[in-house]
Amino acid sequence: MKTIDQASFAGKKVLIRVDFNVPLDKDYNITDDNRITAALPTIKKILQDGGAVILMSHLGRPKDGPTEKYSLKHIVPHLSDLLGQQVEFADDCIGQEATDKAKALQSGEVLLLENLRFYKEEEKGDVGFAKKLAALGNIYVNDAFGTAHRAHASTSIIAQFFPDAKYFGYLMASELENAEKVLNNPVKPFTAIMGGAKVSDKIQLIERLLDKVDNLIIGGGMTYTFFKAEGGKIGKSLVEEDKLDLAKSLVQKAKDKGVNLILPVDSIIADNFSNDANTEIAKNDNIKEGWMGLDIGPESIEAFSKVIETSKTILWNGPMGVFEMDKFEKGTKAVAEAIVKATENGAFSLIGGGDSAAAISKFNLTDEVSYVSTGGGALLEYMEGKELPGVKAIND
Ligand code: AMP
Repeated sequence: MKTIDQASFAGKKVLIRVDFNVPLDKDYNITDDNRITAALPTIKKILQDGGAVILMSHLGRPKDGPTEKYSLKHIVPHLSDLLGQQVEFADDCIGQEATDKAKALQSGEVLLLENLRFYKEEEKGDVGFAKKLAALGNIYVNDAFGTAHRAHASTSIIAQFFPDAKYFGYLMASELENAEKVLNNPVKPFTAIMGGAKVSDKIQLIERLLDKVDNLIIGGGMTYTFFKAEGGKIGKSLVEEDKLDLAKSLVQKAKDKGVNLILPVDSIIADNFSNDANTEIAKNDNIKEGWMGLDIGPESIEAFSKVIETSKTILWNGPMGVFEMDKFEKGTKAVAEAIVKATENGAFSLIGGGDSAAAISKFNLTDEVSYVSTGGGALLEYMEGKELPGVKAIND
């Protein structure tokens, strides 16, 4: 793997694609800086080597060019604090100001460019736009795992302008190493825990995992499609009517492959989708008319925990319920705690990004598992076996 450990950065202008797409509150305070802190080792290593760092990122999904709400200038004070030095900012990611500031940048200094997505060319993967970005530096480093599944100008197209000077940053390298560890020769028993709203989003990964895992635990909103497929009464619970056959076929495939597929037997059901709802415990094939399952129930928690705690490799993607509401967080929390226990007993636990990462952070357990990925969609696609454009661009 071509990582920054193989390059010398002294006297170079190093363009680093980072993923600083962090959540901001209405006063532009960063509410979760994980994605920024995750990129610090790469930035610091290059600065220590005597390189000058030019950071590029997107923030949010701006529709019509420059917008105050999506300006990366809001990140500058916190980034400067974290690095212990003032970070320069260019109001535009290309053009005269960016060129001048990049040129003036000295060894050991940092320049952050304005939001790449203020140009529609970024998401279109425009070569001309990528070339203008490339002109700002003489080495390209990609450390933005969260956007590695996109063939955008700054994540993939730009790499062609650095045929002999393109590298993975530390974050990218460790994301790929950890995903590989789970996919290739996992220590057995290997348990995958899939949750979240829809089975359709995860179907490719589930099918691939059936060839690798010993246990496949399914929870969250996707559960009810499986019970409906068997003729169960699921009330108003989430269901994908067009995926009933698919759910049945997954159950059959698991049987054929000797995989222990574990569905939750019970749920916390609610009379409406709210933290103030009335709740009861119900069996998943007998949910009352008008009620919906919003979390796994106590029997399921017990069964899931037993399997998780005795596993040696664990992959978790997707919550067990609507964990954002305190009333329906118990199942997700219990699964997180079982993963922590297994990890203490020597298991390797990889937490897929997105909602599972948000959940484990809500429960303050981020540091108690082996690795929490910064990539949601990117990790899913990588695990599905797809070649990520951001990875391919460096490897080519
Ligand atoms: P995903 O993006 O597919 O991983 O889904 C995550 C979302 O699924 C979270 O926002 C959860 O609140 C939601 N979710 C999990 N379980 C349920 C459920 N039983 N009913 C409705 N939504 C759910």
